[in-house]
Amino acid sequence: MEGATQSSARAQVPGFRMTFFHEQSFDDVTGRTIILDIDGTLVASGETEVSHEARATLVRLREKNTVYLCSNNYDRSRTKSIAESLQTPFLRSRKKKPDPRLLRDTTIQGPLLVIGDKCLTDELFALFTGAEFLRVSRIKSPKDSAMTRFLYFVDDIASFFMKAIKRLT
Ligand SMILES: [Mg+2]
Repeated sequence: MEGATQSSARAQVPGFRMTFFHEQSFDDVTGRTIILDIDGTLVASGETEVSHEARATLVRLREKNTVYLCSNNYDRSRTKSIAESLQTPFLRSRKKKPDPRLLRDTTIQGPLLVIGDKCLTDELFALFTGAEFLRVSRIKSPKDSAMTRFLYFVDDIASFFMKAIKRLT
């Protein structure tokens, strides 16, 4: 199932390979409702300044799609501030990825595509909501906390096993 969501998204993005969000062209991603992760995808965890490259990629993505930001970070004022600086709406819900009930608090429609860096939140959220998923390389920072590094480590282990399971099924 999960392999199907990822491979079908890849099939529609010729030449797709996992790179950082800001390195993606997304030329062939059109007509989607995109749920875009923030931490590790647009910025390093907890940071607020989105690079010019990431902003440019987001602008390109928005030209042909409807984009919503979505963050599990508890600092909602930060999420709001980033969303405003990017002139991009964000999903307001008390639920967190990968809880599919997060979508119930919104009115978004259309073929969904989740873009993010983590398998335990973004990829599972896509799986649970029937969305396609594109995983991007994770933006890390020397300032990442020990907890953030640990969670990344756990996520990478989970990702490794999920890929192994996909290969076997
Ligand atoms: Mg993330």
